[in-house]
Amino acid sequence: MNQPSRGACYPVDSDSNPCNPIQCSPQRHQPNENKALLQDQNMAMVSFLWLEITGKCQLECVHCYAESGPSGTHGTMARSDWERVLDQARDLGVKMVQFIGGEPTLHPDLAALINHALRQGLLVEVFSNLTHVSPSLWEVFSQPGVRLATSYYTDDPDQHEKITQRRGSYAHTKANIIEAVRRSISLRVGLINVDDDQRVEQARSELKALGVQEIGMDRLRQVGRGIRNQQPNISQLCGSCGGGSIAILPDGTVSPCPISRWITIGNVHEEQLFSILTSQKIARSRNEIRAGRDYDYFPNNDCQPREEKCFP
Ligand code: SF4
Repeated sequence: MNQPSRGACYPVDSDSNPCNPIQCSPQRHQPNENKALLQDQNMAMVSFLWLEITGKCQLECVHCYAESGPSGTHGTMARSDWERVLDQARDLGVKMVQFIGGEPTLHPDLAALINHALRQGLLVEVFSNLTHVSPSLWEVFSQPGVRLATSYYTDDPDQHEKITQRRGSYAHTKANIIEAVRRSISLRVGLINVDDDQRVEQARSELKALGVQEIGMDRLRQVGRGIRNQQPNISQLCGSCGGGSIAILPDGTVSPCPISRWITIGNVHEEQLFSILTSQKIARSRNEIRAGRDYDYFPNNDCQPREEKCFP
Protein backbone atom coordinates (compact mmCIF):
# COMPACT_ATOMS: atom_id res chain seq x y z
CA MET A 1 0.00 0.00 0.00
CA ASN A 2 1.37 3.39 -0.85
CA GLN A 3 1.45 5.76 2.05
CA PRO A 4 1.23 9.52 1.96
CA SER A 5 4.40 11.34 2.82
CA ARG A 6 4.77 11.47 6.56
CA GLY A 7 7.28 14.25 6.48
CA ALA A 8 7.60 15.16 10.11
CA CYS A 9 5.46 13.35 12.62
CA TYR A 10 2.39 14.93 14.22
CA PRO A 11 0.87 12.41 16.63
CA VAL A 12 -2.81 13.03 17.31
CA ASP A 13 -2.49 11.88 20.88
CA SER A 14 1.11 11.42 21.84
CA ASP A 15 0.37 10.96 25.54
CA SER A 16 -1.95 8.03 25.20
CA ASN A 17 -0.24 6.71 22.10
CA PRO A 18 3.49 7.05 22.58
CA CYS A 19 4.86 7.29 19.09
CA ASN A 20 7.45 5.06 17.53
CA PRO A 21 10.76 6.76 18.34
CA ILE A 22 11.99 6.10 14.82
CA GLN A 23 8.99 7.59 13.08
CA CYS A 24 8.47 10.36 15.58
CA SER A 25 11.42 11.71 17.50
CA PRO A 26 11.18 14.70 19.84
CA GLN A 27 12.50 16.77 16.91
CA ARG A 28 9.13 17.30 15.24
CA HIS A 29 10.07 19.74 12.54
CA GLN A 30 7.97 20.77 9.59
CA PRO A 31 9.01 19.32 6.21
CA ASN A 32 12.02 21.26 4.92
CA GLU A 33 12.65 22.55 8.42
CA ASN A 34 15.10 19.70 8.93
CA LYS A 35 16.93 20.77 5.78
CA ALA A 36 17.17 24.33 7.06
CA LEU A 37 18.38 23.07 10.43
CA LEU A 38 21.08 21.03 8.74
CA GLN A 39 22.20 24.13 6.89
CA ASP A 40 22.10 26.23 10.06
CA GLN A 41 24.19 23.70 11.92
CA ASN A 42 26.57 23.31 8.98
CA MET A 43 26.04 19.60 9.31
CA ALA A 44 26.21 16.81 6.81
CA MET A 45 24.11 17.95 3.85
CA VAL A 46 23.26 14.91 1.77
CA SER A 47 21.96 15.02 -1.79
CA PHE A 48 22.37 11.35 -2.75
CA LEU A 49 21.45 8.10 -0.99
CA TRP A 50 22.44 4.54 -1.86
CA LEU A 51 19.66 2.22 -0.74
CA GLU A 52 21.06 -1.31 -0.62
CA ILE A 53 17.74 -3.09 -0.47
CA THR A 54 19.00 -6.67 -0.64
CA GLY A 55 22.02 -8.90 -0.28
CA LYS A 56 20.53 -11.45 -2.68
CA CYS A 57 21.91 -11.86 -6.21
CA GLN A 58 21.76 -14.45 -9.00
CA LEU A 59 25.48 -13.97 -9.55
CA GLU A 60 28.42 -14.50 -7.21
CA CYS A 61 31.06 -12.19 -8.61
CA VAL A 62 34.62 -12.80 -7.47
CA HIS A 63 35.09 -9.12 -6.58
CA CYS A 64 31.72 -8.36 -4.91
CA TYR A 65 32.36 -5.96 -2.01
CA ALA A 66 28.91 -6.80 -0.57
CA GLU A 67 29.59 -10.57 -0.73
CA SER A 68 26.17 -10.97 -2.35
CA GLY A 69 24.89 -14.20 -3.88
CA PRO A 70 21.93 -16.58 -4.05
CA SER A 71 22.01 -17.19 -0.30
CA GLY A 72 21.79 -13.46 0.52
CA THR A 73 18.64 -12.00 2.08
CA HIS A 74 16.60 -8.81 1.89
CA GLY A 75 17.68 -8.03 5.45
CA THR A 76 15.52 -6.47 8.15
CA MET A 77 14.24 -3.37 6.34
CA ALA A 78 10.55 -3.78 5.47
CA ARG A 79 8.94 -1.80 2.66
CA SER A 80 7.48 0.62 5.21
CA ASP A 81 10.98 1.18 6.63
CA TRP A 82 12.36 2.06 3.19
CA GLU A 83 9.38 4.33 2.53
CA ARG A 84 9.98 6.12 5.82
CA VAL A 85 13.63 6.63 4.84
CA LEU A 86 12.54 8.04 1.46
CA ASP A 87 10.16 10.45 3.18
CA GLN A 88 12.84 11.62 5.59
CA ALA A 89 15.36 11.91 2.75
CA ARG A 90 13.04 14.16 0.79
CA ASP A 91 12.58 16.41 3.81
CA LEU A 92 16.36 16.65 4.27
CA GLY A 93 16.91 17.87 0.71
CA VAL A 94 18.07 14.63 -0.92
CA LYS A 95 17.76 14.86 -4.71
CA MET A 96 18.54 11.35 -5.92
CA VAL A 97 18.48 7.79 -4.61
CA GLN A 98 20.04 4.69 -6.06
CA PHE A 99 18.53 1.24 -5.45
CA ILE A 100 21.36 -1.26 -5.30
CA GLY A 101 22.08 -4.68 -3.84
CA GLY A 102 22.79 -7.49 -4.22
CA GLU A 103 20.51 -7.43 -7.19
CA PRO A 104 17.66 -4.96 -6.53
CA THR A 105 15.36 -6.48 -9.18
CA LEU A 106 15.10 -9.56 -6.93
CA HIS A 107 13.42 -7.49 -4.21
CA PRO A 108 9.63 -7.87 -4.41
CA ASP A 109 9.04 -4.20 -3.47
CA LEU A 110 11.44 -2.58 -5.95
CA ALA A 111 8.69 -1.24 -8.24
CA ALA A 112 6.69 0.13 -5.30
CA LEU A 113 9.77 1.79 -3.80
CA ILE A 114 10.76 3.38 -7.11
CA ASN A 115 7.25 4.77 -7.49
CA HIS A 116 7.26 6.03 -3.91
CA ALA A 117 10.57 7.83 -4.51
CA LEU A 118 9.24 9.40 -7.72
CA ARG A 119 6.14 10.63 -5.90
CA GLN A 120 8.46 12.33 -3.42
CA GLY A 121 10.10 14.16 -6.31
CA LEU A 122 13.33 12.16 -6.06
CA LEU A 123 15.38 11.08 -9.06
CA VAL A 124 16.00 7.33 -9.12
CA GLU A 125 18.85 5.17 -10.36
CA VAL A 126 18.66 1.37 -10.28
CA PHE A 127 22.02 -0.40 -10.21
CA SER A 128 21.30 -3.85 -11.66
CA ASN A 129 23.41 -6.64 -13.13
CA LEU A 130 20.75 -6.71 -15.89
CA THR A 131 20.73 -10.51 -16.09
CA HIS A 132 16.93 -10.54 -15.88
CA VAL A 133 14.38 -7.72 -16.14
CA SER A 134 10.68 -8.61 -16.13
CA PRO A 135 8.30 -6.87 -18.57
CA SER A 136 6.63 -4.99 -15.71
CA LEU A 137 9.96 -3.72 -14.40
CA TRP A 138 10.90 -2.47 -17.87
CA GLU A 139 7.75 -0.34 -17.70
CA VAL A 140 8.78 1.02 -14.28
CA PHE A 141 12.31 1.75 -15.57
CA SER A 142 10.88 3.60 -18.58
CA GLN A 143 9.30 6.32 -16.44
CA PRO A 144 10.72 9.84 -16.47
CA GLY A 145 13.09 10.32 -13.55
CA VAL A 146 14.42 6.74 -13.60
CA ARG A 147 17.78 5.65 -14.95
CA LEU A 148 19.80 2.45 -14.94
CA ALA A 149 23.39 1.58 -14.13
CA THR A 150 25.24 -1.70 -14.56
CA SER A 151 28.72 -3.22 -14.48
CA TYR A 152 30.52 -4.74 -17.44
CA TYR A 153 33.90 -6.41 -17.67
CA THR A 154 34.95 -7.68 -21.08
CA ASP A 155 33.73 -8.59 -24.57
CA ASP A 156 34.69 -12.22 -23.95
CA PRO A 157 31.81 -14.36 -22.58
CA ASP A 158 34.16 -16.84 -20.87
CA GLN A 159 36.10 -14.06 -19.17
CA HIS A 160 32.86 -12.36 -18.06
CA GLU A 161 31.42 -15.57 -16.65
CA LYS A 162 34.64 -16.40 -14.83
CA ILE A 163 34.08 -13.13 -12.95
CA THR A 164 30.33 -13.50 -12.35
CA GLN A 165 30.51 -17.28 -11.68
CA ARG A 166 27.39 -17.90 -13.81
CA ARG A 167 27.17 -19.43 -17.27
CA GLY A 168 25.08 -17.34 -19.65
CA SER A 169 25.39 -14.11 -17.66
CA TYR A 170 27.31 -12.28 -20.41
CA ALA A 171 24.59 -12.89 -23.01
CA HIS A 172 21.79 -11.90 -20.63
CA THR A 173 23.44 -8.67 -19.49
CA LYS A 174 24.40 -7.69 -23.04
CA ALA A 175 20.86 -8.36 -24.31
CA ASN A 176 19.37 -6.18 -21.58
CA ILE A 177 21.85 -3.37 -22.25
CA ILE A 178 20.62 -3.48 -25.85
CA GLU A 179 17.00 -3.42 -24.61
CA ALA A 180 17.63 -0.43 -22.32
CA VAL A 181 19.19 1.48 -25.23
CA ARG A 182 16.29 0.47 -27.50
CA ARG A 183 13.84 1.85 -24.93
CA SER A 184 15.89 5.07 -24.63
CA ILE A 185 16.34 4.51 -20.89
CA SER A 186 19.27 6.52 -19.55
CA LEU A 187 22.03 4.02 -18.79
CA ARG A 188 25.52 4.31 -17.39
CA VAL A 189 27.87 1.36 -17.50
CA GLY A 190 30.91 0.86 -15.30
CA LEU A 191 33.83 -1.14 -16.65
CA ILE A 192 35.29 -2.87 -13.62
CA ASN A 193 38.89 -3.96 -14.03
CA VAL A 194 39.18 -7.11 -11.93
CA ASP A 195 41.94 -9.14 -13.64
CA ASP A 196 45.19 -8.16 -15.35
CA ASP A 197 44.37 -9.80 -18.67
CA GLN A 198 40.81 -8.48 -18.87
CA ARG A 199 39.65 -7.17 -22.28
CA VAL A 200 38.50 -3.85 -20.85
CA GLU A 201 39.20 -1.63 -23.86
CA GLN A 202 37.51 -4.11 -26.19
CA ALA A 203 34.53 -4.03 -23.84
CA ARG A 204 34.48 -0.24 -24.05
CA SER A 205 34.39 -0.44 -27.86
CA GLU A 206 31.62 -3.03 -27.68
CA LEU A 207 29.52 -0.83 -25.39
CA LYS A 208 29.98 2.18 -27.65
CA ALA A 209 28.89 0.08 -30.63
CA LEU A 210 25.78 -0.93 -28.67
CA GLY A 211 24.91 2.75 -28.23
CA VAL A 212 25.91 3.20 -24.57
CA GLN A 213 26.85 6.84 -24.06
CA GLU A 214 27.99 6.95 -20.45
CA ILE A 215 30.87 4.59 -19.71
CA GLY A 216 32.88 4.81 -16.48
CA MET A 217 35.87 2.91 -15.22
CA ASP A 218 36.63 1.42 -11.85
CA ARG A 219 39.20 -0.84 -10.26
CA LEU A 220 38.94 -3.78 -7.91
CA ARG A 221 38.03 -2.62 -4.39
CA GLN A 222 39.57 -4.83 -1.73
CA VAL A 223 36.43 -5.17 0.36
CA GLY A 224 34.29 -8.31 0.84
CA ARG A 225 35.06 -10.86 -1.92
CA GLY A 226 37.32 -8.24 -3.50
CA ILE A 227 39.93 -8.76 -0.79
CA ARG A 228 43.20 -10.04 -2.29
CA ASN A 229 46.21 -8.84 -0.30
CA GLN A 230 44.81 -5.99 1.84
CA GLN A 231 42.14 -5.56 4.46
CA PRO A 232 39.38 -2.95 3.94
CA ASN A 233 40.70 0.52 4.64
CA ILE A 234 40.37 4.07 3.37
CA SER A 235 42.73 3.42 0.47
CA GLN A 236 39.93 1.33 -1.09
CA LEU A 237 37.67 4.39 -1.35
CA CYS A 238 37.65 7.11 -3.98
CA GLY A 239 37.11 9.80 -1.35
CA SER A 240 33.77 10.98 -2.68
CA CYS A 241 31.99 9.36 0.26
CA GLY A 242 33.45 12.12 2.42
CA GLY A 243 30.91 14.39 0.71
CA GLY A 244 27.16 14.65 0.29
CA SER A 245 26.06 11.02 0.19
CA ILE A 246 25.37 8.10 2.52
CA ALA A 247 24.41 4.45 2.11
CA ILE A 248 21.77 2.46 3.95
CA LEU A 249 22.34 -1.29 4.04
CA PRO A 250 19.69 -4.07 4.21
CA ASP A 251 19.81 -4.18 8.01
CA GLY A 252 19.34 -0.42 8.33
CA THR A 253 23.02 0.31 8.96
CA VAL A 254 24.15 3.70 7.66
CA SER A 255 27.62 3.98 6.15
CA PRO A 256 29.36 6.69 4.07
CA CYS A 257 28.95 4.50 0.94
CA PRO A 258 28.24 0.85 0.04
CA ILE A 259 31.97 0.13 -0.29
CA SER A 260 32.93 1.70 3.04
CA ARG A 261 30.56 -0.70 4.81
CA TRP A 262 33.00 -1.38 7.65
CA ILE A 263 32.43 2.24 8.77
CA THR A 264 29.04 2.48 10.50
CA ILE A 265 27.54 5.80 11.51
CA GLY A 266 24.09 4.78 12.70
CA ASN A 267 21.03 2.66 11.96
CA VAL A 268 17.71 3.91 10.59
CA HIS A 269 15.87 1.30 12.71
CA GLU A 270 17.01 3.22 15.77
CA GLU A 271 17.30 6.85 14.70
CA GLN A 272 15.90 9.29 12.18
CA LEU A 273 18.15 10.28 9.31
CA PHE A 274 18.23 13.79 10.75
CA SER A 275 19.79 12.54 13.99
CA ILE A 276 22.35 10.47 12.11
CA LEU A 277 23.34 13.37 9.87
CA THR A 278 23.80 15.68 12.84
CA SER A 279 25.80 13.17 14.88
CA GLN A 280 29.44 13.49 15.81
CA LYS A 281 29.99 10.05 14.30
CA ILE A 282 29.29 11.12 10.73
CA ALA A 283 31.43 14.23 11.17
CA ARG A 284 34.30 12.09 12.45
CA SER A 285 34.03 9.50 9.67
CA ARG A 286 33.95 12.19 6.98
CA ASN A 287 36.95 13.94 8.47
CA GLU A 288 38.79 10.62 8.55
CA ILE A 289 37.96 9.90 4.91
CA ARG A 290 38.88 13.40 3.81
CA ALA A 291 42.13 13.33 5.76
CA GLY A 292 43.05 9.97 4.23
CA ARG A 293 42.08 11.21 0.79
CA ASP A 294 44.05 14.42 0.99
CA TYR A 295 47.20 13.38 2.76
CA ASP A 296 47.92 9.70 3.12
CA TYR A 297 46.30 7.51 0.54
CA PHE A 298 45.72 10.17 -2.11
CA PRO A 299 48.92 12.19 -1.75
CA ASN A 300 48.40 14.85 -4.42
CA ASN A 301 46.40 17.21 -2.28
CA ASP A 302 44.25 18.97 -4.86
CA CYS A 303 41.03 19.09 -2.82
CA GLN A 304 39.49 16.65 -5.27
CA PRO A 305 39.15 12.90 -5.14
CA ARG A 306 42.34 11.55 -6.62
CA GLU A 307 40.56 9.17 -8.91
CA GLU A 308 37.25 8.69 -10.62
CA LYS A 309 34.36 8.03 -8.30
CA CYS A 310 33.85 4.45 -7.24
CA PHE A 311 31.27 2.72 -9.35
CA PRO A 312 28.33 1.79 -7.23
S1 SF4 B 1 29.01 -7.57 -7.84
FE1 SF4 B 1 26.84 -7.09 -8.21
S2 SF4 B 1 26.18 -8.66 -9.67
FE2 SF4 B 1 28.10 -9.40 -8.77
S3 SF4 B 1 27.47 -10.69 -6.99
FE3 SF4 B 1 27.82 -8.60 -6.22
S4 SF4 B 1 25.79 -7.64 -6.29
FE4 SF4 B 1 25.70 -9.45 -7.62
